[in-house]
Amino acid sequence: MTAAPPPETLRAPLVVEFPFTRSLGPVQSAFLTGLREGVVLGVKTSGGKVMVPPVEYDPVTAEEIRELVEVAPTGTVTTWAWNASPRPNQPLATPFAWVLVTLDGAGTGLLHALDAPGPDAVRTGMRVRVRWAAERSGAITDIACFEPCDAGPDDGGPDSCDGAPARPHDGAFADPVTGIVAAARLDYTYTPGRAQTAYINGLAERKTVGERCPSCHKVYVPPRGACPTCGVATTDRVEVGPAGTVTTYCIVNIKARGLDIDVPYVYAHIALDGAGLALHGRIGGIPYDQVRMGLRVEPVWTEGGRHPDHYRPTGEPDADYDAYKELI
Ligand SMILES: [Zn+2]
Repeated sequence: MTAAPPPETLRAPLVVEFPFTRSLGPVQSAFLTGLREGVVLGVKTSGGKVMVPPVEYDPVTAEEIRELVEVAPTGTVTTWAWNASPRPNQPLATPFAWVLVTLDGAGTGLLHALDAPGPDAVRTGMRVRVRWAAERSGAITDIACFEPCDAGPDDGGPDSCDGAPARPHDGAFADPVTGIVAAARLDYTYTPGRAQTAYINGLAERKTVGERCPSCHKVYVPPRGACPTCGVATTDRVEVGPAGTVTTYCIVNIKARGLDIDVPYVYAHIALDGAGLALHGRIGGIPYDQVRMGLRVEPVWTEGGRHPDHYRPTGEPDADYDAYKELI
Protein backbone atom coordinates (compact mmCIF):
# COMPACT_ATOMS: atom_id res chain seq x y z
CA MET A 1 0.00 0.00 0.00
CA THR A 2 1.33 3.41 -0.97
CA ALA A 3 1.11 6.25 1.53
CA ALA A 4 -0.72 9.33 0.25
CA PRO A 5 1.67 12.21 -0.45
CA PRO A 6 1.53 15.23 1.86
CA PRO A 7 -1.16 17.69 0.77
CA GLU A 8 1.40 20.35 -0.15
CA THR A 9 2.88 18.03 -2.76
CA LEU A 10 1.78 18.66 -6.35
CA ARG A 11 0.00 15.98 -8.35
CA ALA A 12 -0.98 16.04 -12.00
CA PRO A 13 -2.10 13.63 -14.70
CA LEU A 14 0.65 12.62 -17.10
CA VAL A 15 0.07 10.74 -20.35
CA VAL A 16 2.91 9.13 -22.27
CA GLU A 17 1.63 8.20 -25.72
CA PHE A 18 3.44 7.16 -28.87
CA PRO A 19 2.89 4.94 -31.91
CA PHE A 20 4.96 1.75 -31.84
CA THR A 21 5.84 0.59 -35.34
CA ARG A 22 7.17 -2.91 -35.88
CA SER A 23 7.84 -5.09 -38.87
CA LEU A 24 6.59 -8.69 -38.89
CA GLY A 25 8.65 -11.74 -39.69
CA PRO A 26 7.16 -14.52 -41.83
CA VAL A 27 5.37 -16.20 -38.90
CA GLN A 28 3.69 -13.14 -37.40
CA SER A 29 2.89 -11.89 -40.90
CA ALA A 30 1.07 -15.14 -41.68
CA PHE A 31 -0.75 -15.07 -38.31
CA LEU A 32 -2.06 -11.50 -38.69
CA THR A 33 -2.83 -11.86 -42.40
CA GLY A 34 -4.72 -15.04 -41.51
CA LEU A 35 -6.82 -13.18 -38.96
CA ARG A 36 -7.70 -10.64 -41.66
CA GLU A 37 -8.89 -13.55 -43.82
CA GLY A 38 -10.79 -15.17 -40.93
CA VAL A 39 -8.30 -17.99 -40.38
CA VAL A 40 -6.41 -18.70 -37.14
CA LEU A 41 -2.89 -19.96 -37.77
CA GLY A 42 -0.40 -21.42 -35.37
CA VAL A 43 2.97 -23.12 -35.63
CA LYS A 44 3.94 -26.72 -34.99
CA THR A 45 7.19 -27.39 -33.19
CA SER A 46 9.44 -30.33 -34.08
CA GLY A 47 8.10 -31.92 -30.88
CA GLY A 48 4.58 -31.76 -32.34
CA LYS A 49 3.20 -28.99 -30.11
CA VAL A 50 0.91 -26.48 -31.81
CA MET A 51 1.37 -22.94 -30.54
CA VAL A 52 -1.31 -20.25 -30.95
CA PRO A 53 -0.43 -17.41 -31.01
CA PRO A 54 2.60 -18.57 -32.98
CA VAL A 55 6.21 -17.92 -32.06
CA GLU A 56 9.22 -17.90 -34.37
CA TYR A 57 11.51 -19.97 -32.18
CA ASP A 58 10.83 -23.07 -30.09
CA PRO A 59 10.79 -21.94 -26.44
CA VAL A 60 12.30 -25.29 -25.39
CA THR A 61 14.91 -26.04 -28.08
CA ALA A 62 15.33 -22.49 -29.48
CA GLU A 63 15.18 -23.90 -33.01
CA GLU A 64 13.50 -21.88 -35.73
CA ILE A 65 9.87 -22.82 -36.41
CA ARG A 66 8.36 -22.41 -39.86
CA GLU A 67 5.64 -25.10 -40.02
CA LEU A 68 2.28 -23.32 -40.09
CA VAL A 69 -1.01 -24.99 -39.20
CA GLU A 70 -4.62 -23.84 -39.16
CA VAL A 71 -6.60 -24.37 -35.98
CA ALA A 72 -10.32 -24.12 -35.30
CA PRO A 73 -11.98 -20.82 -34.28
CA THR A 74 -13.44 -22.68 -31.29
CA GLY A 75 -11.76 -23.59 -28.05
CA THR A 76 -11.82 -24.07 -24.30
CA VAL A 77 -11.24 -21.51 -21.54
CA THR A 78 -8.35 -22.63 -19.36
CA THR A 79 -8.31 -19.68 -16.95
CA TRP A 80 -9.96 -16.28 -16.68
CA ALA A 81 -10.33 -13.04 -14.71
CA TRP A 82 -13.33 -10.74 -14.64
CA ASN A 83 -12.74 -7.14 -15.73
CA ALA A 84 -15.52 -5.09 -14.13
CA SER A 85 -14.20 -1.70 -15.28
CA PRO A 86 -12.95 -1.76 -18.87
CA ARG A 87 -10.48 0.97 -19.72
CA PRO A 88 -10.41 2.95 -22.99
CA ASN A 89 -9.32 0.93 -26.02
CA GLN A 90 -9.80 -2.44 -24.35
CA PRO A 91 -11.54 -5.01 -26.59
CA LEU A 92 -15.02 -4.41 -25.14
CA ALA A 93 -16.56 -1.30 -23.59
CA THR A 94 -18.81 -3.35 -21.31
CA PRO A 95 -17.52 -5.51 -18.42
CA PHE A 96 -15.96 -8.70 -19.77
CA ALA A 97 -13.65 -11.57 -18.85
CA TRP A 98 -10.00 -11.81 -19.80
CA VAL A 99 -9.59 -15.42 -20.86
CA LEU A 100 -6.87 -17.81 -21.90
CA VAL A 101 -8.36 -19.92 -24.65
CA THR A 102 -6.80 -23.11 -25.96
CA LEU A 103 -8.19 -23.27 -29.47
CA ASP A 104 -9.15 -26.70 -30.78
CA GLY A 105 -6.02 -28.15 -32.37
CA ALA A 106 -3.68 -25.92 -30.32
CA GLY A 107 -1.62 -26.77 -27.27
CA THR A 108 -1.17 -23.27 -25.83
CA GLY A 109 -3.46 -20.52 -24.62
CA LEU A 110 -4.40 -17.34 -26.49
CA LEU A 111 -5.16 -14.31 -24.32
CA HIS A 112 -8.28 -12.40 -25.36
CA ALA A 113 -11.59 -11.02 -24.15
CA LEU A 114 -14.77 -13.05 -23.60
CA ASP A 115 -18.12 -11.30 -23.96
CA ALA A 116 -20.23 -12.64 -21.10
CA PRO A 117 -23.10 -11.12 -19.09
CA GLY A 118 -21.27 -11.50 -15.77
CA PRO A 119 -18.66 -13.51 -13.88
CA ASP A 120 -21.28 -16.15 -13.04
CA ALA A 121 -21.47 -16.94 -16.75
CA VAL A 122 -17.75 -17.70 -17.01
CA ARG A 123 -16.03 -20.89 -15.92
CA THR A 124 -12.84 -22.75 -16.61
CA GLY A 125 -13.54 -25.44 -19.18
CA MET A 126 -16.33 -23.58 -20.94
CA ARG A 127 -16.52 -23.74 -24.72
CA VAL A 128 -16.07 -20.51 -26.68
CA ARG A 129 -15.65 -19.39 -30.26
CA VAL A 130 -14.14 -16.45 -32.06
CA ARG A 131 -16.36 -13.48 -32.82
CA TRP A 132 -14.75 -11.84 -35.84
CA ALA A 133 -14.60 -8.06 -36.14
CA ALA A 134 -16.80 -6.62 -38.89
CA GLU A 135 -13.83 -4.74 -40.39
CA ARG A 136 -10.54 -6.62 -40.38
CA SER A 137 -7.11 -5.21 -41.18
CA GLY A 138 -4.55 -7.80 -40.05
CA ALA A 139 -4.34 -7.23 -36.29
CA ILE A 140 -5.14 -9.16 -33.12
CA THR A 141 -8.25 -6.94 -32.87
CA ASP A 142 -9.56 -8.74 -35.96
CA ILE A 143 -10.78 -11.15 -33.28
CA ALA A 144 -13.32 -8.78 -31.72
CA CYS A 145 -13.61 -11.13 -28.73
CA PHE A 146 -14.67 -14.66 -27.85
CA GLU A 147 -18.26 -15.61 -27.11
CA PRO A 148 -19.76 -18.61 -25.30
CA CYS A 149 -20.87 -21.43 -27.57
CA ASP A 150 -21.97 -24.10 -25.06
CA ALA A 151 -25.52 -23.77 -26.33
CA GLY A 152 -24.61 -23.73 -30.00
CA PRO A 153 -25.77 -26.55 -32.26
CA ASP A 154 -23.01 -29.08 -32.75
CA ASP A 155 -24.03 -29.82 -36.30
CA GLY A 156 -20.88 -28.77 -38.09
CA GLY A 157 -22.55 -25.60 -39.40
CA PRO A 158 -21.11 -22.08 -39.13
CA ASP A 159 -22.31 -21.74 -35.51
CA SER A 160 -21.03 -25.15 -34.54
CA CYS A 161 -18.98 -25.55 -31.42
CA ASP A 162 -17.38 -28.70 -32.77
CA GLY A 163 -13.65 -28.69 -32.63
CA ALA A 164 -11.35 -29.72 -35.44
CA PRO A 165 -7.77 -30.93 -35.44
CA ALA A 166 -4.99 -28.68 -36.69
CA ARG A 167 -4.29 -29.04 -40.39
CA PRO A 168 -1.37 -27.89 -42.52
CA HIS A 169 -1.51 -24.40 -44.04
CA ASP A 170 0.99 -22.90 -46.48
CA GLY A 171 0.57 -19.37 -45.03
CA ALA A 172 0.30 -17.96 -48.56
CA PHE A 173 -2.07 -15.01 -48.80
CA ALA A 174 -2.44 -12.23 -51.34
CA ASP A 175 -1.28 -8.86 -50.06
CA PRO A 176 0.25 -10.08 -46.78
CA VAL A 177 0.48 -7.79 -43.76
CA THR A 178 4.16 -6.96 -43.23
CA GLY A 179 4.03 -4.44 -40.39
CA ILE A 180 1.81 -3.03 -37.70
CA VAL A 181 1.52 0.24 -35.79
CA ALA A 182 0.37 -0.22 -32.20
CA ALA A 183 -0.60 2.84 -30.18
CA ALA A 184 1.18 2.67 -26.82
CA ARG A 185 -0.32 4.78 -24.05
CA LEU A 186 0.53 4.99 -20.35
CA ASP A 187 -1.62 7.03 -17.97
CA TYR A 188 0.10 8.22 -14.81
CA THR A 189 -0.75 10.39 -11.87
CA TYR A 190 2.60 12.07 -11.46
CA THR A 191 3.74 13.53 -8.16
CA PRO A 192 7.12 15.26 -8.24
CA GLY A 193 7.72 14.91 -4.50
CA ARG A 194 8.44 17.49 -1.82
CA ALA A 195 11.65 18.98 -3.25
CA GLN A 196 10.50 19.36 -6.85
CA THR A 197 7.13 20.70 -5.69
CA ALA A 198 9.05 23.59 -4.08
CA TYR A 199 11.08 23.97 -7.28
CA ILE A 200 7.95 24.12 -9.46
CA ASN A 201 6.17 26.50 -7.05
CA GLY A 202 9.29 28.70 -7.18
CA LEU A 203 9.19 28.76 -10.98
CA ALA A 204 5.60 30.03 -10.76
CA GLU A 205 7.12 33.14 -9.14
CA ARG A 206 9.98 33.15 -11.68
CA LYS A 207 12.45 32.04 -9.02
CA THR A 208 14.79 29.07 -9.18
CA VAL A 209 14.91 27.19 -5.87
CA GLY A 210 17.44 24.48 -5.14
CA GLU A 211 18.32 22.53 -2.02
CA ARG A 212 21.67 22.45 -0.22
CA CYS A 213 23.20 19.26 1.14
CA PRO A 214 23.80 19.69 4.89
CA SER A 215 26.93 17.53 4.60
CA CYS A 216 28.85 18.59 1.46
CA HIS A 217 26.99 21.92 0.97
CA LYS A 218 26.40 21.31 -2.72
CA VAL A 219 23.26 23.06 -4.00
CA TYR A 220 21.12 20.81 -6.22
CA VAL A 221 19.04 22.46 -8.96
CA PRO A 222 16.51 21.06 -9.71
CA PRO A 223 16.46 19.47 -6.26
CA ARG A 224 15.75 15.73 -5.93
CA GLY A 225 15.30 15.73 -2.16
CA ALA A 226 18.56 13.99 -1.33
CA CYS A 227 22.28 14.25 -2.00
CA PRO A 228 23.30 11.21 -4.05
CA THR A 229 26.93 11.61 -2.92
CA CYS A 230 26.31 11.83 0.84
CA GLY A 231 23.07 9.85 0.95
CA VAL A 232 21.31 12.37 3.18
CA ALA A 233 18.11 14.38 2.72
CA THR A 234 18.45 17.95 1.48
CA THR A 235 16.07 20.30 3.28
CA ASP A 236 17.81 23.70 3.20
CA ARG A 237 16.12 25.67 0.38
CA VAL A 238 18.29 28.13 -1.54
CA GLU A 239 17.32 30.54 -4.30
CA VAL A 240 19.91 30.54 -7.08
CA GLY A 241 20.46 32.60 -10.25
CA PRO A 242 18.77 34.16 -12.03
CA ALA A 243 21.95 34.58 -14.12
CA GLY A 244 24.36 31.77 -14.83
CA THR A 245 27.25 30.51 -16.92
CA VAL A 246 27.24 28.26 -19.98
CA THR A 247 29.43 25.31 -19.00
CA THR A 248 29.02 23.28 -22.18
CA TYR A 249 26.62 23.18 -25.11
CA CYS A 250 25.61 21.50 -28.33
CA ILE A 251 24.30 22.85 -31.64
CA VAL A 252 20.98 21.28 -32.60
CA ASN A 253 20.50 20.76 -36.33
CA ILE A 254 17.44 18.50 -36.28
CA LYS A 255 14.03 20.09 -35.97
CA ALA A 256 11.89 18.35 -33.39
CA ARG A 257 8.26 17.75 -34.29
CA GLY A 258 5.94 20.15 -32.47
CA LEU A 259 8.79 22.49 -31.50
CA ASP A 260 8.53 25.86 -33.23
CA ILE A 261 12.22 26.79 -33.13
CA ASP A 262 14.36 27.32 -36.23
CA VAL A 263 17.50 25.19 -36.52
CA PRO A 264 20.35 25.42 -35.88
CA TYR A 265 20.03 26.51 -32.27
CA VAL A 266 22.08 25.95 -29.15
CA TYR A 267 21.13 23.81 -26.18
CA ALA A 268 23.41 24.35 -23.22
CA HIS A 269 24.27 23.28 -19.73
CA ILE A 270 23.92 26.38 -17.57
CA ALA A 271 25.26 26.65 -14.02
CA LEU A 272 23.05 29.24 -12.32
CA ASP A 273 24.92 31.43 -9.85
CA GLY A 274 24.97 29.62 -6.52
CA ALA A 275 24.05 26.22 -7.95
CA GLY A 276 26.26 23.18 -7.52
CA LEU A 277 25.37 21.60 -10.85
CA ALA A 278 24.17 22.72 -14.26
CA LEU A 279 20.65 22.56 -15.62
CA HIS A 280 19.92 22.77 -19.31
CA GLY A 281 18.19 25.28 -21.51
CA ARG A 282 18.16 26.86 -24.95
CA ILE A 283 20.39 29.83 -25.70
CA GLY A 284 18.89 32.70 -27.74
CA GLY A 285 19.65 36.31 -28.53
CA ILE A 286 23.05 35.46 -30.00
CA PRO A 287 24.06 33.73 -33.27
CA TYR A 288 24.45 30.02 -32.64
CA ASP A 289 28.09 30.01 -33.72
CA GLN A 290 29.02 32.66 -31.17
CA VAL A 291 27.87 30.70 -28.11
CA ARG A 292 30.86 29.58 -26.01
CA MET A 293 31.78 28.00 -22.72
CA GLY A 294 31.86 30.64 -19.99
CA LEU A 295 29.20 32.83 -21.67
CA ARG A 296 27.16 34.65 -19.03
CA VAL A 297 23.39 34.28 -19.56
CA GLU A 298 20.09 35.18 -17.92
CA PRO A 299 16.61 33.68 -18.27
CA VAL A 300 13.99 35.08 -20.65
CA TRP A 301 10.40 34.46 -19.61
CA THR A 302 7.40 34.60 -21.88
CA GLU A 303 3.90 35.54 -20.78
CA GLY A 304 2.31 32.56 -19.03
CA GLY A 305 5.48 30.46 -19.33
CA ARG A 306 6.01 27.83 -16.62
CA HIS A 307 9.78 27.92 -17.05
CA PRO A 308 12.27 30.21 -18.82
CA ASP A 309 11.69 30.11 -22.58
CA HIS A 310 15.43 30.44 -23.16
CA TYR A 311 18.55 32.15 -21.81
CA ARG A 312 20.24 35.16 -23.43
CA PRO A 313 23.66 36.82 -22.93
CA THR A 314 23.87 39.29 -20.06
CA GLY A 315 26.68 41.27 -21.68
CA GLU A 316 29.03 40.59 -18.74
CA PRO A 317 32.58 39.38 -19.42
CA ASP A 318 32.87 35.59 -19.80
CA ALA A 319 33.41 33.61 -16.60
CA ASP A 320 36.84 32.17 -15.90
CA TYR A 321 37.10 28.48 -16.66
CA ASP A 322 38.19 27.81 -13.06
CA ALA A 323 34.87 29.27 -11.87
CA TYR A 324 32.78 26.58 -13.55
CA LYS A 325 35.14 23.69 -14.39
CA GLU A 326 33.60 21.54 -11.64
CA LEU A 327 30.10 22.12 -13.03
CA ILE A 328 30.49 20.85 -16.61
ZN1 LIG B 1 26.20 15.96 -0.05
